[in-house]
Amino acid sequence: MGGQDTHEGNVAGATPARRFDVLLVEPSRFYAAHIESLLAPEGAQCERVQTAKEAKASLAHGEFDLVCVSLQLEDSTGPELVRHIRSEPGMGRVPLVMVTAEQSQEVFEDAYQAGCTEVFFRGELDRLAEYLSTFAKNRAEDRRLVGRVLYLEDTKWLAAVTIGVLHNLGLAVEHFVAVAPALEAFRSGEFDLIITDIVLEGAQSGVSLVHEVRRMKDRRATIPILAMTGLDDAARRIELFRAGVSDYISKPAITEELVARVSSLVVNKQLLETVERQQEQLMRMATVDTLTGLFNRRHLTSMASAAIARARAENTPLSVAIVDIDFFKKLNDTHGHQVGDLVLSAMGELLLEFGEAVDAVPSRFGGEEFLMMWEGKGVEETLAHTEDLRRQIEDLHPDGYAVTASIGVSVYETGDSFEVLFERADRALYRAKADGRNRVCHGLPVAA
Ligand code: GH3
Ligand code: MG
Ligand code: MG
Ligand code: MG
Repeated sequence: MGGQDTHEGNVAGATPARRFDVLLVEPSRFYAAHIESLLAPEGAQCERVQTAKEAKASLAHGEFDLVCVSLQLEDSTGPELVRHIRSEPGMGRVPLVMVTAEQSQEVFEDAYQAGCTEVFFRGELDRLAEYLSTFAKNRAEDRRLVGRVLYLEDTKWLAAVTIGVLHNLGLAVEHFVAVAPALEAFRSGEFDLIITDIVLEGAQSGVSLVHEVRRMKDRRATIPILAMTGLDDAARRIELFRAGVSDYISKPAITEELVARVSSLVVNKQLLETVERQQEQLMRMATVDTLTGLFNRRHLTSMASAAIARARAENTPLSVAIVDIDFFKKLNDTHGHQVGDLVLSAMGELLLEFGEAVDAVPSRFGGEEFLMMWEGKGVEETLAHTEDLRRQIEDLHPDGYAVTASIGVSVYETGDSFEVLFERADRALYRAKADGRNRVCHGLPVAA
């Protein structure tokens, strides 16, 4: 089993240190100076503050590549501050390390739960020095990964070696020797990768962990899982892939192979997440009107044709109500466009809430024109809901302005296209306006 050397012989010419910015939140001047002395040779530019309040102010103004927080703070606690930082935009993945004078399991767990990348005991600041040096080196080489690994391995020496490799990659690791506590941690934390041994302490094997994770109902079920086992035969590997592992590596793993597989799994997962987030955002922008939060005209059109198709195929009732604000132009002219926008946004909120309550889909298809669409409601029920909506609009008084709307209703008749259904509602609306506004009119089919 020669050739396995976990100490990477990085002897190539010295990489020039790249400057990076560190926020150091440490109430003790002594420790602050000490930590700063560890950071300076790595090329770090330190900003030292003593309290959570000062830290928040610094974060609001500057950008940091790493934040180092003390467990005890005068005005808060380390985990509390870390939670706050993690919730800030853009700070989800910044390395956050905590230094603690207390060395208890509870403190460490609490810190990791809060979102710390690493926790260091004050009594062993040489570990922090090591971490900082790796951090600086990885930055210089631009191969730093950011993420958390749930790692299951019951053989202690092997676990220590693997954890070292993962730390060198920049990953935070939570290590377990049995399935049950690992699953508990997985349920309550955020991870980017699971690495699991198969034969573990306790009754459950790594395979059962894979099954449990893949059975979860949310997106956590899709986390990449790297299986590591000494039982290296083909039947075993097939079983693992059937259970749902993403990749497989035999033990003891060669460092380079472990690094390559782990990096590709973590990077791919994070890329996929970024793409999904962006797509979600794009989808939202394409379908939702920004001022009101309601579906836009474009999305209404596609929803409408689907609804008509369902009404035709299943013969279920389909009804619509066009809601048009009364004298909106006058409101704009009198109080300004901004007040108009405010009224529209308040209408959006009301229609969203109302739609949820009565199971109707609201949309904004024009300036001050909205459409509610019901599936499965007959004439009487639609009219009752619409009358209720008209009254709610009258009672809304957004920012104190009196606002009313006129509403035209129509109900699907066999053979209607959406245009015909809409046209009838529009004619009813015209009558509601002509009859004095702030009322509901029902459009009868032309044939009736
Ligand atoms: P009626 O009671 O007959 O419906 O009269 P109205 O004034 O409500 O109807 P009209 O169609 O004459 O005017 C609609 C106005 O809505 C005109 C337009 O400037 C305004 N509007 C359209 N979109 C927006 C918007 O996004 N923001 C604001 N503030 N006004 C808008
Ligand atoms: Mg084992
Ligand atoms: Mg109008
Ligand atoms: Mg109007």
